[in-house]
Amino acid sequence: MTLRIGDRVLNPGEKHEARISLGSRPDGTPLSMPVMGIAGARPGPVLGLVTGIHGDEYEGPEAVREILQSIQPGELSGGIIATPIANVPAYEVFGRAAPVDGLDLNRQFPGNAAGFLSPRIAETLVREVVEQSNALIDLHSAGLAYDLLPYTGFNDSPTDAGRASLEMAKAFGIPILYGSTPFANVLRLEAVKREIPVILVEVGGEARLRPDGVATMVRGIRNVLSQLGMIDEPQEGLPAEYTIVKAPPGGEFSHVDTGGFIRNQTSLGALVDAGQVLGTIVDVFGHEITTLTAPIAGMVLSYRTVPVVRTGEWGYSVVEITGTSPVSDTARS
Ligand SMILES: [Zn+2]
Repeated sequence: MTLRIGDRVLNPGEKHEARISLGSRPDGTPLSMPVMGIAGARPGPVLGLVTGIHGDEYEGPEAVREILQSIQPGELSGGIIATPIANVPAYEVFGRAAPVDGLDLNRQFPGNAAGFLSPRIAETLVREVVEQSNALIDLHSAGLAYDLLPYTGFNDSPTDAGRASLEMAKAFGIPILYGSTPFANVLRLEAVKREIPVILVEVGGEARLRPDGVATMVRGIRNVLSQLGMIDEPQEGLPAEYTIVKAPPGGEFSHVDTGGFIRNQTSLGALVDAGQVLGTIVDVFGHEITTLTAPIAGMVLSYRTVPVVRTGEWGYSVVEITGTSPVSDTARS
């Protein structure tokens, strides 16, 4: 195992932090991506941790910082390579996207080193983190205007990497597992293309920093390190049973056809019937314009918590419950 941060190859037992150049701001000050890593004292796999792809999500960055500070090289087999803030230009404005090009970084992969800034960040992230990883965790929250029920997304594929992704998702310890195949231009697809097991973790939202959410992520990452044989400690906090969900045929998100003000009538985790009213959109005078209903029978996984909504944004996501699964032997080992 060789672990590299920028041009620097880490020696076994070494921790390192660096800023990978992305170019410069108009005033000449450097623009960069922070990358941190630990080369364990013993050989083993490399776990990649990516967070801060969206600049208004904070639990993941805090969890990654805590992991990189608390894990000591002497207790680690293999290595960890991480960025605590993949998208610094979005982080600076606490927004989802970098204002310089307005592009959602998680729709720009595999990236383009000769493109706009966001595709350049995507290319850097793949080169510096994904391509060094034997397993990858992409940590997100719901963002400024939304909240969600915590879940772990796995690559629902009958391949070795798909099965390993499910085992990692179980080890993370969040009781809701969301099976999907990654769509075009998201980070996870770059891992899937390289047969790297990958999970997507979604915890928290509303641009808050919720301590319980950070703790969930820290415990989950430590559980995965344990499951991969990289640290010698028992996995903690595993649920007795997982609920497996998937997106409905028409897609997870119900986009609204009219702007207005949402009056919510449901809650995260609510089990709803097809056609059940989830909320209403009223105009500025309080007159009802439309109702927002569940497209399928299922569970409310996330919703908009900023009540002002614009045409084309989404109000609710409802997912289909496909079954339950016990904790596997490998996840408990
Ligand atoms: Zn995100």
